[in-house]
Amino acid sequence: MATQTTLIRHGTVVTAIDEFSADILVKDGRIAQVGTNLDDPDTNTVVEARGMYVLPGGVDIHTHLATPGGNGFSTADDYFTGHRAAAFGGTTTVLSFADQWKGATMRQTLDTWHAKARDKAAVDYGFHLMVTDCNDAVLDELAEFRSWGVNTVKLMMAYKGRAMVDDAVILRVMQRCKELGLLTMVHCENGDAIDVLQRQAVANGQTAPIFHALTRPPQLEAEATERAIQLAQTAGGAPLFVVHCTHSGALEAVVRARARGESVTAETCIHYLSLTKDRLRGAPGDAFEGAKYVCSPPLREEADIAALWRGLHTGDLHSVSTDHCPWRFDIHKSLGRQDFTKIPNGAPAIEERLMLLWNDGVNTGRITRSQFVALVSTEPAKLFGMPNKGSLTVGNDADIVLWDPAATHTISAETNHGAMDYSMFEGRIVTGMPALVMSRGEVLVKGAEWLGKPGRGVFQHRNSKV
Ligand code: MN
Ligand code: MN
Repeated sequence: MATQTTLIRHGTVVTAIDEFSADILVKDGRIAQVGTNLDDPDTNTVVEARGMYVLPGGVDIHTHLATPGGNGFSTADDYFTGHRAAAFGGTTTVLSFADQWKGATMRQTLDTWHAKARDKAAVDYGFHLMVTDCNDAVLDELAEFRSWGVNTVKLMMAYKGRAMVDDAVILRVMQRCKELGLLTMVHCENGDAIDVLQRQAVANGQTAPIFHALTRPPQLEAEATERAIQLAQTAGGAPLFVVHCTHSGALEAVVRARARGESVTAETCIHYLSLTKDRLRGAPGDAFEGAKYVCSPPLREEADIAALWRGLHTGDLHSVSTDHCPWRFDIHKSLGRQDFTKIPNGAPAIEERLMLLWNDGVNTGRITRSQFVALVSTEPAKLFGMPNKGSLTVGNDADIVLWDPAATHTISAETNHGAMDYSMFEGRIVTGMPALVMSRGEVLVKGAEWLGKPGRGVFQHRNSKV
C-alpha cells in the first residue's frame, strides 16, 4: 500500500489544556509530527488550515445503533448511516450499546453486534455490553470482557419488565466489575416508581407525550443516582459512570461522591443543555409533536440546564455525549399516538453534538475551546480506554477535524446525513462547524462532500483495567 503523507499547515491546534499555532504531519494514518514549519519530502497532500482550529476527532461514547426496541423495529440508523452522520458532525469514534436479550450469553450478544457493525462501520467503533438477563453464567462471562475488547458494562435501573435489573443484580455485577477492572455504566432512574406513575396516568386518560416527562419526575433520577453511587461503594468502591445526568439533584449526588474521593464519573447529553420539558407539550394544536422529544430521562427545567453547564465548567461532568437513539417520527414515534408509554424512548443528536456545544458553549463564553475539546473528545477517549484517540499527540491515530469557527449552518433533518426524519434542533442556526474530517488520515468529509465508505471503521479493542 502506498504511503499516504498529509501535511496540515498553519492551523491553530486546540488540546484539552491549551492551544497553539502548528503544522501536523500525518503518515500512514498516524500523527507523525506536530510543530512549526514542518516539511516532509513524502508529502502527497497539503491541507491549508489558516483561520481554522485543528481539533481531535469527536468521541461519542453513548449511542444506540441498529438496536431493537421491543416494538418490532430497530433504531433507524445502522452502523453506516449513524457513522456517516457522526462524521459530518466531526465525530470519528462512536461507542454503542450491545444489548443482551433474554436468554442470550454475553458472547452471543457481542457477536451479534459485531455482525451488525463489521461491514457497515464508517468510523472507528466499540461496544459496551448491556446486561439485562443476569445469572451466574453471565457473571462468569464478565471475566472475559476485557479479552474481548470491552471494558464497560451497562445496567438499567429503569424500563421495568424489559431491560431493568434489580439492586441485587446491580450489586453483584458491580462486585465483579470491581474485581475485574471493568467500568459500570448505569442509567439511573427508579423504574419501579416510574412504572406505578405511568400506569396511573394511562388509567386516568393522561396519554399525551407530556405525561412521559410528568411520570418520570427528577427526584426519581436523583434517588437512583444516589443509590447507584452507594451500591458502587458497597461493592468495594467499584468505578461508576453515571450516564445522561439531566437533573441538578442527580448532579449534586455525583459532586458529593467525587468530593468524598469515590470513583464516580458522569456525562450529560447535548439535548439536556438547551431543551426543556415544555417541548413535550408539542406544537399548538398538535400535542403529538412532543413525541419527538420523548427520551429518558426526560428533558428537564431551565434550572437544571444551568446546573449542567456549571457541571461542565467545574469538571464534575466528563463527557457531553448524545444518547443518539434514532426513532423516526413517521413510523416509530407514531406507535404512541394513543398512549405515551408506547412512544419509543430516544432521539437523534449524533450529527449536531459538536456544533451545538461549540455554538452554545464556546461562542457564549460558558466553556473554553479547550474544555470543549476535553468534553467531546479527550476525556471520553481516555476514560473509556482508547489511548490512541482524543488527542493530537505524536503516534496517535490521525483523527482530525478542521473546525471553521466562522461558518454558519442551519440545522435541519433535510440536510442531516442519517436516516432520521426530524431533528430536535430543527431551524437552529449555529456558528462553527467542521470543514474537513479525517479518520486515521483518510478524509471522510470535505465541506458537504462524503468521501468515506462502509466497512472502513475499525473495532476499538478497549482492554485496559479501569
Ligand atoms: Mn438510558
Ligand atoms: Mn442510552
